[in-house]
Amino acid sequence: MTVSVGTKRQVIARDGGFCLLALPGCLGEAQTTDHRANRGSGGSPVLDHPANLIAACTLCNGAKADARSLVLLDLEERGLWIRKAATNEETLQRAKETPAEGLDGQRWFLVSATSRVHASKVGGAVPF
Ligand SMILES: [Zn+2]
Repeated sequence: MTVSVGTKRQVIARDGGFCLLALPGCLGEAQTTDHRANRGSGGSPVLDHPANLIAACTLCNGAKADARSLVLLDLEERGLWIRKAATNEETLQRAKETPAEGLDGQRWFLVSATSRVHASKVGGAVPF
């Protein structure tokens, strides 16, 4: 994974400092970032875009990689897991158009490493 330490720090701060995945055994505080759509080894850096990244703890980050379909479906409902589209560019667009749910149930469009927009503020329209 080639997300820089600086970008990780920004994304963690953007998302409030806590792991959004909140899987069983979650450590709470976020130490890293998780790819909503899995970049995959040797994958395109397109999916390293901050819209595809969420704050995560190391435990959930690892657990998601091995998660089974029921867990992924729950994460998908919360906007934290994005299905791959035909191309990385389309997958990134899907991530931009899908708000991510915070721990308080609020939903946010992830704009950049430092900016997110509350889903209600744009009336369901995508701010791009
Ligand atoms: Zn966690």
